[in-house]
Amino acid sequence: MDFALSEEHRAIVETVRSFVRRELVPHEDLVERLDEVPDDLAREIRGKAIAAGLYAANFPADLGGGGLDALSLTLAERELGWTSYALQALVTRPSNILRACQGDQVQTYLLPAIRGERLDCLAMTEPGAGSDVRSMTTTARRSGGDWVVNGTKHFISHADVADFVVLFAVTGTERAGSGRAGADHAGTGQADRDGRRAISAFLVDHDTAGLTVRRGRPSVSHRGYHHCELSFTDCRVPGSALLGAEGRGFELLTEWLGASRLTVAACSVGRARRVLELAAGWAATRRQFGRPVGQFQGVGFSLADMATELEAAELLMLRAAWRLTRNQMSDTDAAMAKLYASEMLGRVTDQAVQIFGGMGLMSDLPIERFWRDARVERIWDGTSEIQRHIISRSMLRERGA
Ligand SMILES: Cc1cc2nc3c(=O)[nH]c(=O)nc-3n(C[C@H](O)[C@H](O)[C@H](O)COP(=O)(O)OP(=O)(O)OC[C@H]3O[C@@H](n4cnc5c(N)ncnc54)[C@H](O)[C@@H]3O)c2cc1C
Repeated sequence: MDFALSEEHRAIVETVRSFVRRELVPHEDLVERLDEVPDDLAREIRGKAIAAGLYAANFPADLGGGGLDALSLTLAERELGWTSYALQALVTRPSNILRACQGDQVQTYLLPAIRGERLDCLAMTEPGAGSDVRSMTTTARRSGGDWVVNGTKHFISHADVADFVVLFAVTGTERAGSGRAGADHAGTGQADRDGRRAISAFLVDHDTAGLTVRRGRPSVSHRGYHHCELSFTDCRVPGSALLGAEGRGFELLTEWLGASRLTVAACSVGRARRVLELAAGWAATRRQFGRPVGQFQGVGFSLADMATELEAAELLMLRAAWRLTRNQMSDTDAAMAKLYASEMLGRVTDQAVQIFGGMGLMSDLPIERFWRDARVERIWDGTSEIQRHIISRSMLRERGA
């Protein structure tokens, strides 16, 4: 077994690492203070990411993307995790699901998104449909050659700056017992088996009449990266807005669920690396009772636990990415990486606050920010409980239960 990264992978790490430290980290305090990335700064950073070949690294090179394999992409995301989410998000767009664009959608949405000219957001969650996203009630009904959308989405990241929405809406009822693989956050397929909602994906321009986008409630995590509420009231979109086949929206999404969970794992590992470095530095230099506090066993052992958990999370992340590169990553691989890495980040940031003592809670150091930011990683892209459900379900299925 060879744990070494190839020369190519090391070069990618170096490139992204220096970009993050040179172009993103210096703006962290400003974004935190304003709770915003100013438009001109966002444009400048995106332009530099495009020039450096880092933007849309998840898309194939023949479409104008970075063309990175899954392992390279995961390593890049780990490096991006070093900085604030609002800043790293300027580099990592767009959503993988846009690969399903066909016909005119390629010129109107996919290619401009890869070039960084148009930004997307992805709208599944509703006030009444979170983990059980399949229970959504937003509908799209046919009207002549168009679709008319009604309903409300919430917690939709980035919708305030997005040019268009990848929207999931109910377009009918599926035949009972069709046995299609469903894709609620748990991937239970329950709704399919019950012959309930058929869900389709649509591309909806931000300025479409009948669509209202409002900033959501302020949240503790990721200042400058906002979530929004989207209201659709008799919102009419053309037939050409349908992304993929009618009633197959969730299948499109399922293809990329694992990859997006791996992204959460990678960001969590990247952020924990930074926090550990800060905490170790503090423990080595902050003196009490005549010696560095890290020399007290209570603090030193805490550092040891943080480092060990971080390594374990990183190995899970790398194994899942390596398998994804070979098209062998299972739902369990992605769920374990997301679950362990996001929970590890929660523990590491909490221990870091403790090591910093009172200063850990002060906003002039970034520790309290990392602590706040860490909290959402256990919730979005499927909660920790849902990841545990996926892992245990696979174990039980193997045993016929
Ligand atoms: C900041 C932020 C940004 C987001 N961005 C987006 C976005 O861009 N697009 C989008 O579509 N969504 C987005 N989401 C939504 C996110 O995916 C959901 O918040 C998440 O899936 C959980 O749904 P919920 O918040 O409704 O919690 P609920 O589903 O109501 O869960 C509440 C609790 O019950 C538990 N629970 C639920 N079902 C089970 C079960 N079967 N077994 C065990 N426990 C269970 C959960 O784990 C949780 O602890 C975002 C969320 C946040 C907070």
